[in-house]
Amino acid sequence: MATRRAWLARVAAVGGAGAALTLLAAMRPVTAAGPRPSLPPLAGQRVLVLGAGIAGLVAALELHRAGASITVLEADRRIGGRSLTIREGFSPGQYFNAGPARIPQHHAAILGYAREFAVPMQVLVNDNRSAPLPGTSLGEARANLQGVVAELALKALGAGLLEQPITPAELERLAGMLRGFGALDAAGRWRGSARAGWQQAPGMAPGTPRPPLPLAVLLRPGIGQAVNFAEGINYAATMLAPAGGMDMIARALAAALPAGAIRLGAAVAGLDPTASLVRLADGRVLGADHIICALPPRLAARLDGWSAPRRAALAAVPQENAAKFGLEAPRFWEAQGLYGGIAWLPGRMSQQLWYPSERFHSPRGVLVGAYIWDDALATRFGALSPAQRRAAVLADAAPLHPELAGLAGADTSVVWSDMPWAGAAWAEWTDAARAALMPELLRPEGRVRLAGDWLSSIPGWQEGAVASAWQAVGALGG
Ligand SMILES: Cc1cc2nc3c(=O)[nH]c(=O)nc-3n(C[C@H](O)[C@H](O)[C@H](O)COP(=O)(O)OP(=O)(O)OC[C@H]3O[C@@H](n4cnc5c(N)ncnc54)[C@H](O)[C@@H]3O)c2cc1C
Repeated sequence: MATRRAWLARVAAVGGAGAALTLLAAMRPVTAAGPRPSLPPLAGQRVLVLGAGIAGLVAALELHRAGASITVLEADRRIGGRSLTIREGFSPGQYFNAGPARIPQHHAAILGYAREFAVPMQVLVNDNRSAPLPGTSLGEARANLQGVVAELALKALGAGLLEQPITPAELERLAGMLRGFGALDAAGRWRGSARAGWQQAPGMAPGTPRPPLPLAVLLRPGIGQAVNFAEGINYAATMLAPAGGMDMIARALAAALPAGAIRLGAAVAGLDPTASLVRLADGRVLGADHIICALPPRLAARLDGWSAPRRAALAAVPQENAAKFGLEAPRFWEAQGLYGGIAWLPGRMSQQLWYPSERFHSPRGVLVGAYIWDDALATRFGALSPAQRRAAVLADAAPLHPELAGLAGADTSVVWSDMPWAGAAWAEWTDAARAALMPELLRPEGRVRLAGDWLSSIPGWQEGAVASAWQAVGALGG
């Protein structure tokens, strides 16, 4: 087997040691979070951390490791914040990640904690070419798009339309790459390929590949978005997820804190940034040397005691709604060749249906019947009663899976704007809003520093929550 080391040795032999070093640097995971902060000893320092989401837990852990005495105040009766896994209501062993469900392999900061605490991870199939699309499948649509584009590009090459300088040998290699990219025939035409799937599957007799899709099918609304989805750096075909539920990472972080450090049901109502005091909703007042406020911005804005500019900046952070619907059923989809991945539902309120990536061939599984990331659609969904939500999801899935309605078991749904301790799904920044608000939000106010994924360059990702926590505690140490 060619190991990474053997491969690098080959690179070094060809290009010299310098080439191998450059390559190593390029292969190192690039994390938005930067290096884990190294804090000076903080023994004797008391820090109050507001919120036990990923940002609050990571901040508390790193401060605890530096010797600070930490107390985490969490309004909810559970830790994890938006990293919410629901098990109640489903059969034993089944779960539904109502918030985060997947981690890109380059999110090294959050994965670093999962590795450190030996949280078992599994592959999450994010992009499954077998997944159905209206009138086609993801694999068929992708093969056809590549075929059409490669044929066009080859014609353009032949017509001398490439503007960059190129040698005849390179031109030949580029033409070869395009033929391979599009699975073109010897004449450079897209005439269909087994990449697109079989019309007649091979067995004892040879198979027949599916013919090219009519452009009218390939160009149906939403198909381009589905086909290009996994090209996004954060949406690779295979991603990672903790086995047993996303909240396993938050649980591991919490378990590494001293017993009693986290106070659940402790809703913060106000603070005095200069005196470094926090007032709980029940009237109690707690003091510390520093405060890390790791609450979502809209909820943080409601606390008493901020300066007017700080409150205004917090309230102005643009945020959006999202919703998810979990539905338990027998795994009939696996008998249809669907092992994980996402079925896109263009034009439907449910937007996406996810097949479970864990425990293949076990009797039952929890589908994400709807992942609604569009703000307006999620709000429309949120206005429905639980029974109406179920009916809407089943109606949206019916063209793909008519049998689902008869097999569907327990369900649950979360609309993030309606979650009292979240208030929204995530921040959706514009460049203008960032430029206007970040200087205020990143500056300490008295003894309070803010943290949360929304302050990072990757809001809506746990990696961003870690990045922000590291920045907040790093600044406190410096
Ligand atoms: C639908 C959805 C899908 C997502 N998908 C992914 C994904 O696939 N992968 C990924 O990595 N990320 C994903 N995310 C983003 C991820 O959930 C967040 O980036 C991360 O969980 C944010 O952590 P946080 O600590 O910054 O904030 P939060 O998790 O919001 O934590 C804030 C904490 O403050 C508490 N709190 C609020 N008000 C008070 C108060 N007054 N007093 C005390 N405590 C209070 C809350 O209860 C909460 O525990 C998704 C989020 C959503 C909603």
